[in-house]
Order: sequence, then C-alpha cells, then structure tokens
Amino acid sequence: MNRSVRFDDIRALLVCHVDNAGISRVKVLPHRRLLSASTHGVTISNSVGVLFSVDDHLNATPDVDPIVGDLRGIADSSAMALIDREAGLAWAPADLYRLDGTPHPTCQRTALRRVVDDAEDVRLTFTVGVELECTLFRPAAEAGGPPVPATTGPAYSTTSLLEVEGFATDAIAALDLAGVPVDQVHPEFGSGQIEFAFGPRDPLGAVDDLVLARVVLSRVARQHGLLVSFAPVPIVGGSTNGCHVHLSARRDGRNVFADPSAKLGVTPEGGHLIGGILDRLEEGVALLGGSVLSFTRLRPHAWAGADICWGPGNREAAIRFVPGQAGMGAEQSNIEVKPVDGAANPYLAVAAIIAAALDGSARKVAPPKPVRVDPSTLTAAQRRASGVRPLPADLGSALHRLESSDFYRGVFGDVLVDAYVATRQHEWEAYGEHVPEDVADLVRWKY
Ligand code: GLU
Ligand code: MG
Repeated sequence: MNRSVRFDDIRALLVCHVDNAGISRVKVLPHRRLLSASTHGVTISNSVGVLFSVDDHLNATPDVDPIVGDLRGIADSSAMALIDREAGLAWAPADLYRLDGTPHPTCQRTALRRVVDDAEDVRLTFTVGVELECTLFRPAAEAGGPPVPATTGPAYSTTSLLEVEGFATDAIAALDLAGVPVDQVHPEFGSGQIEFAFGPRDPLGAVDDLVLARVVLSRVARQHGLLVSFAPVPIVGGSTNGCHVHLSARRDGRNVFADPSAKLGVTPEGGHLIGGILDRLEEGVALLGGSVLSFTRLRPHAWAGADICWGPGNREAAIRFVPGQAGMGAEQSNIEVKPVDGAANPYLAVAAIIAAALDGSARKVAPPKPVRVDPSTLTAAQRRASGVRPLPADLGSALHRLESSDFYRGVFGDVLVDAYVATRQHEWEAYGEHVPEDVADLVRWKY
C-alpha cells in the first residue's frame, strides 16, 4: 500500500530494520536527508544489522565479521508512513544492502520478498492477516517493583476495555493515521492483555504493517502513561502473547483453502500447503519465535498451537483451519498459524511459513487427518494415528533442528541461517537455564 505521505509533512524519518533477535533497530533522518533515505540509505554496522542478540551481546559468524564492515539500510519509500502529523514523524522499513549496492544475503525483508516471488512464479498468491496480542502495564508502584497489568476485569469483558478505553480509541485513530487500519480490537484473556487484528493483505505489506503497528501502539501507550509488552510471556504464569498469522492462498483467483464440497473443506492443493507447513514445523519453529520464552509459551492449554496438527476451529492445533462463515462465503476461509510470537523476526516467520507451504505444494505433501478435539486429550495411539507430534521442547532443540535443516538453508541461504542461529543460540546459552521470571524481566520491553 502506498500511504502517499507528503515529504513536506515529514520533519524526521525513523528508518527501521528488524534484526535476527526480533528487535527493531532505528536510525533517524532529518527532512533534508529524506530523498537520500531510499537511495543511499543509512549506514548500519554488521553487528547492529545482523549479529546482536536480545541483550545486545555481539555474536560472530564465519561470513559476517562483528567488528569490520558496514551495510546500507535502504528505506523503502513505498512503505513509508506518517505516524505523528504534529511532530512530522514518519517511519519506513529498511532493506539491507552491501556497500556495492547489491542486496545483503542476511536481509530478512528481502528474504520474504524472494519467497513471495517464488510463490508468484508458481501462480500462487498469498495474503496474510495478523493478530497482534500485547499486554499493557502501568508503571511499577516503586522503582524496581513488579509492573502492574493495566486491566483486571474479566477476560474479553467490557469492564476490562473500559479500564484502557482512552488508549484503545487513540490507538485506533493513530493506526488509521499511519495507514494501518485495524479490523478489530478486543481485551484478551489475561490481565492487561489486548489484541489488535489486521485484515489480509500482501505478505510483505502485512509484516511491515505489524512492525509499524508496534511502534504506533508503543507511542500511544506512553501518551497514556502505560507501557506495552509484545513479549511472548509478559508475566510468568499469566496469559501469553501470540502473533498469529492468518494465511490465505489463491490459484487463478480461487481460494485453495475453500472447497465446501470436499471432505476436508479445502482443495487438494490447500491440503498440500497445510501438509507442507506441518511437515516443516519442527525445523522452522525457531523462526516463528526464537526466544527462550517462546517455548515457555508453546505449552498445551495456552491456545498457542503447541501440537503439530490441524483442525477446523481447533485452538490447540498449530494450524487452526478457519472455514468461511455463513453470509461471508467461502472466500473468507483461511488457515491460522498459531505458534508465531512477538519475539520472532516477522519477515522470517512469514517467509518460513510460505516457503514450507510452497514446498508442500511442490511435493504434494498429504495433510494429516484433521484433529477435532484438544490434541492433549488424545492417547499416544490416537496421536500416532493422527500424526500429532509435539513441537521441540525448548529453544536449544529448535535451533538444532533449524541449523541442520537443508530445507531452510536452501530457502534463506547459509549466511542468513548461520547469523540467525548465532544470535538465538547466545540467548539459549545465556538464559536457557534461568528461571522464566528472570528471562521475562529481561525481555519484557525489548520487542
Ligand atoms: N494468547 C494465546 C497465544 O499465546 C492465543 C489466544 C487466542 O487464541 O486468541 O497464542
Ligand atoms: Mg487472541
């Protein structure tokens, strides 16, 4: 979407790049540098672009030197958005380039663009809608004290919403101004938890919107004296934050996830896409979250999709099949990939899902039987019969699967996979043994 921002309205441009730790890093350009933002861009060191972990620990890989070398972060002016009219503040996502002007092999946004191009090459058009869950807090009563969730009312209740009504209405207006219109807002299950759902659009635009929406929501929260956390586990023992990805796919204009006359409710190709995503989930799940806490979240009964299976309306399955509703037609039918969370690099997460779906289509991977009950209630024999498997239990094992994945090395290239694994492996080695409360304190405000 071109948001048609007028350069005259911009006094400062945030040029943002989401790194392998899932953190948005930024350089700010004044008005007089706007034109050069999308030609020369900004200088980003290898370390900041590629190699920092969530705690700003600097890693190294054989291909990317942490000390010597620079990248260019080239702003994509077609995705530029005005986020504060009065302040003249705008935002744009950046692609990573080598100094010689060629795309850098670690650029996560370019990786997603390539996967989408691969899909277009086989005449599949994907769209993505995102459900962004986050948790609002009031500042701690005393310095160093525990943060206080901003709502206490019953889950999904009006009572809960009214506690943060000003934030919610201002957030809707601010998202509109930024060109990221929200489809629906609701108080979520947990204390302080609120969800913003965004309608479907092209995958790259949907991820840009997600990254931008987090900036906008953080700003509006601050204006209301609140802080917002997108971490997968904002409070240990409380409700977790997901970032579910709704995926639609069309071939020749036809929704492959809609065939009401078929037994599974999807076309044969729709089944292959589902089969492909499930088949690659063990090796790809480190790309869908990638923090130690992502695996604290991926437990049964959190509606986070901790089991590798799918089923219509099934909130405990990694893929919830969402059939079209009466009156809206089969066109609405889509799949929701639930294990994704806010610690991911969302460009890589969506690229990993679409690449796996394409692979399923190419190899005609049959989907397992749909699961119509909570998979954790199945016996071991029933799980085997339905092909239900657990996701890797922790970040260490998920990274091991990713590191040894020929498939994802083929999709993203060794330079990117090695850099991603290095940044996340540090997190696992440094914090994997810590109690989750300490890790939650460390990452609560980072994303
Ligand atoms: N909060 C849940 C999660 O961590 C999802 C709840 C829902 O299905 O909306 O994914
Ligand atoms: Mg939700």
